[in-house]
Amino acid sequence: MATIRLIRGDITRLPAEAIVNAANSSLRGGGGVDGAIHGAGGPQILRECIKWTEKHGLLPPGEAMYTTGGKLPAKYVIHTVGPVWRGGDNGEDQILANAYKNSLRLAEELGVQQIAFPNISTGIYGFPKERAADIAIRSVAEYLRRGSRINEVFFVCFDKENERIYHEKLGSDTLEIK
Ligand code: ADP
Repeated sequence: MATIRLIRGDITRLPAEAIVNAANSSLRGGGGVDGAIHGAGGPQILRECIKWTEKHGLLPPGEAMYTTGGKLPAKYVIHTVGPVWRGGDNGEDQILANAYKNSLRLAEELGVQQIAFPNISTGIYGFPKERAADIAIRSVAEYLRRGSRINEVFFVCFDKENERIYHEKLGSDTLEIK
């Protein structure tokens, strides 16, 4: 059994085993949650990202890699790249679903039981928030229903609008997946 929890706040302060970063393909940091994670986590995270790109190149949209958490309370940061919204007919939904699922898969490989997601792509990348929340919840619920060692997934909403949307869609602040 696993639990999905909605929380409002700053993901960098969450003592979850793994937190997810809505990164960009260069993995060099940026604005929004990406900037907050690198800012609070310190230079170690960027060093690990640079090392990874030197070996593997750009991180494609929908894929995930990980670093340690640096100075964050989280043990790992899973970096994934969401789609840039281009009207909805350019594979955006599938790429967003992949970002969630590949992050979960990587968390599982890392042996963690908890993972926290920001609302990927709904900031600078411009993905409509309602549609993104439907995809996020569906992707995570589908993954957990298939059976997984992950037993706690947090949706961390930074803005009020996302919090309202997630609250409405989950029906409360927690959802048990059996
Ligand atoms: P993207 O480029 O994927 O759209 P953004 O960082 O611009 O990424 O926005 C993604 C989501 O992260 C937005 O909903 C934004 O409100 C949220 N966000 C920004 N800062 C934080 C933070 N410190 N903790 C959690 N979520 C955050």
